[in-house]
Amino acid sequence: MFCPSCGEEKEKNVGKICLDCFVRDKELTKISDYLDVDYCTKCGSFKSEGEWKEGMENSKIEAAESAVMSNLGVHREVENPRVALGSEVGGDEIEVDIEVLGEIKGEPIRLRDSTRVRLNKKTCDRCSRVSGGYFESTIQVRGTNRDISEDEISKIEGLIEDFLGDFEKKGRMAFIGNVEKADGGLDISVGTSKLGKRLSRKITKRFGGSFSQSASLIGMEDGQEVYRVNYSVRLPPFRVGDVVEIDDNLIGITEVGDIIRGIDVESGDTYKRNWKYIKDLDMEKIGERDDLEKGTISLVSNNEVQVVEPWGYENVTLKKPSFLSKSDEGKKVFMLKNGKDIMLLSEKFAKD
Ligand SMILES: [Zn+2]
Ligand SMILES: [Zn+2]
Repeated sequence: MFCPSCGEEKEKNVGKICLDCFVRDKELTKISDYLDVDYCTKCGSFKSEGEWKEGMENSKIEAAESAVMSNLGVHREVENPRVALGSEVGGDEIEVDIEVLGEIKGEPIRLRDSTRVRLNKKTCDRCSRVSGGYFESTIQVRGTNRDISEDEISKIEGLIEDFLGDFEKKGRMAFIGNVEKADGGLDISVGTSKLGKRLSRKITKRFGGSFSQSASLIGMEDGQEVYRVNYSVRLPPFRVGDVVEIDDNLIGITEVGDIIRGIDVESGDTYKRNWKYIKDLDMEKIGERDDLEKGTISLVSNNEVQVVEPWGYENVTLKKPSFLSKSDEGKKVFMLKNGKDIMLLSEKFAKD
């Protein structure tokens, strides 16, 4: 076919002119010489299509390339366009080289273009909330009649870390602010009340206990009253390893969470209860696994046992727990002292 532009006979035409003339003369890619992007200098987030987006490691490049991708125009004659970008950061300006590979009428073509992206220093929506101390929700984690241990605190902090990844998918305001030790427990500030509830739920699921919520007015925003939702998390009065008297049963706790598991230390039976149903029962901590000592069984009768206790080496007579029998005479048994009371404990708990 004859091309009126170059005056030659060519195989492929686009419209009235040949492919070579078309690629040479038409503007097949379109982008402004300069693009402007709002960029948060605190966290590396950038604004794209009216919304703040999370920036990762190379957030300046990400901000620039995202702006190029949403502003780049490619001529509709270019089939199957693939875009590759190369960026060079120079302070707050990024030079982006653009290469587009595709086909026109089945013939492979390669197009080149470039632009400069200017980053405008801004503070994003989330950073301005954090720096303004504005949180939608707080969580107070406390123990029941006890302080939360260092060990529990670091485990809760670990749990927060683990779930942070999931939280981020729930939106930019689903963030965790401060996590600080306060008043025998932990105070956590959270970006949204929904997240506050989810995290409170996670904590009680893992460490037992329950939570309640209350709201307080913290100010006005756009003529609307803004409330902060406070979650109060109460962990159980015991931890794993504690020996607790629960409703007249002596239970060695082996697992806390929604379900409390343990061993009835007098019978050696397995104990398993839903926290919901036992939380209002009388509970008293008697001791913990670390306090256990071993005594020697000198005599076992039908209802009683004589044991040489390890604290003053006296021979004491105690009620026979069901896990002991005549054949245990001369053997060792785990013992716990609570004031004047001495109790015998099943080996199952001591070794759990
Ligand atoms: Zn031509
Ligand atoms: Zn930010």
